[in-house]
Amino acid sequence: MHVTVLGAGTMGHGIAQVTATAGHDVVVRDIESEYVEEGITAIEDNLEGGVERDKLTREEADATLSQIEGTTDLEAALEGADVVIEAVPEDLELKQRTLEDVEAVVDEETIVATNTSSLSVTEIASAADHDDRVIGLHFFNPVHVMELVEIVVPEQASEATVASAHEFVADVEKTPVEVTDSPGFASSRLGVALGVEAMRMVEEGVADPRDVDTAMELGYNHPMGPIELGDVVGLDVRLDILEYLREELGERFRPPQALKRKVRAGNLGKKTGEGFYVWEDGEIVGVSGGEGDE
Ligand code: NAD
Repeated sequence: MHVTVLGAGTMGHGIAQVTATAGHDVVVRDIESEYVEEGITAIEDNLEGGVERDKLTREEADATLSQIEGTTDLEAALEGADVVIEAVPEDLELKQRTLEDVEAVVDEETIVATNTSSLSVTEIASAADHDDRVIGLHFFNPVHVMELVEIVVPEQASEATVASAHEFVADVEKTPVEVTDSPGFASSRLGVALGVEAMRMVEEGVADPRDVDTAMELGYNHPMGPIELGDVVGLDVRLDILEYLREELGERFRPPQALKRKVRAGNLGKKTGEGFYVWEDGEIVGVSGGEGDE
């Protein structure tokens, strides 16, 4: 199969890697050659890490790389594509324009997938002439590690498109969940719901962030508690998603004051060194406003 990935950034290079590992010919396209090169280098680094950790052999790493071609030439990238996956920035107009560009080159049978994490796939698909071939394939970061792909089914998708999406996800050795296109899909909606209740509990003094997180880690086997996860994702990102979900789904997604205050203060979590926790060198060293370093 010939797969074209549009965008060689965080998600695009990862999607290109797992698709090539499955044995497909992959062309990854970005707007500048330096971005293409950065994407290919990131794939090389991932593969090298895999070889060092005995996750794959040198031959397998080389075989994956040999399946991937990088380019800035959109038309050449799309020529003969069976599947196109766009991983361009999260901007509705850009994604719709990208879809129009794709349709100008590919055959009618080509499946066109968007890796949007929050936009309406139905709205993106509305820009297509053949909108029944558009589907959401929501990969997770880092793509070569994370097993889940949400297949997001817009209003217009044909059964054949949904079936092809399932086949593709199985082929790249990921586990699919199928979700009707709706705000937050399944993963963000549930993840954010847990996070927001955890923040309210901290705000109300029910428990300290560490105890809330430990409850979920040890009581429910979550690899990371909801408060820590918010800090890792970025509290600004969490707030944006919550505001969008509140608009679409109602007051149960109302952002807690504690979250708004932290974002206003520039305490965005791990990336700024403070969120609900205090971070140093990527590690938690204390609770924000708490008793200090541990
Ligand atoms: P990114 O900024 O790392 O990469 C986007 C790339 O697209 C950049 O290299 C940019 O130069 C390129 N680009 C811009 N316009 C283009 C065009 N017209 N054609 C081809 N390439 C173009 O972004 P990302 O984090 O990889 O996100 C891409 C998409 O994946 C977004 O829709 C995002 O919401 C979604 N997503 C991101 C994550 C994540 O954790 N980063 C997780 C799931 C889904």
